[in-house]
Amino acid sequence: MKEKAIVLDTSAFIAGFDPLAVPEKQYTVLEVKNELNSGTMPWMRFNAAIESGKVRILKPKESRVQEVLEASKKVGDMRYLSEADLQVLALALELKGRGLNALIVTDDYSIQNVANKIGVEFTSLMTFGIKFRFKWILYCPACYRKYPADCKIELCEVCGTELKRKPKKKSHL
Ligand SMILES: [Zn+2]
Repeated sequence: MKEKAIVLDTSAFIAGFDPLAVPEKQYTVLEVKNELNSGTMPWMRFNAAIESGKVRILKPKESRVQEVLEASKKVGDMRYLSEADLQVLALALELKGRGLNALIVTDDYSIQNVANKIGVEFTSLMTFGIKFRFKWILYCPACYRKYPADCKIELCEVCGTELKRKPKKKSHL
């Protein structure tokens, strides 16, 4: 049986996934840390998991990132994926290529869609008993104007830049 490699994205840490409670080997990327607000519980959980050696930070090869970009264009989820999301998907793909049974833990539909496309397995946080529902926000990476997540526009009304999506800050976390 192939060794399991759990890959954690930003949503896993924000939703309260505790790497210390899971026996399998776990991985993430540095970009995930950058998406967590410093000083918050998710940020502290992230650091504790890295320091304890329970989760390893790896950097996928650029060619894997390109593969993920191509796949995300095909499924139309590219604008929803942050740099961290792309890296998480690329890392899972790379670990799978190394013969591991890679499994992304995420509640992010866009990551799930692209994972499907590239043939990487994923599981939602529900699997780990976490019933946190994610709220998203659309924002402009150039002028930082924010838009509601259900907004249908693709370009910033102010400066015309393609909008990106990120998890909305949760005040209780
Ligand atoms: Zn803008």
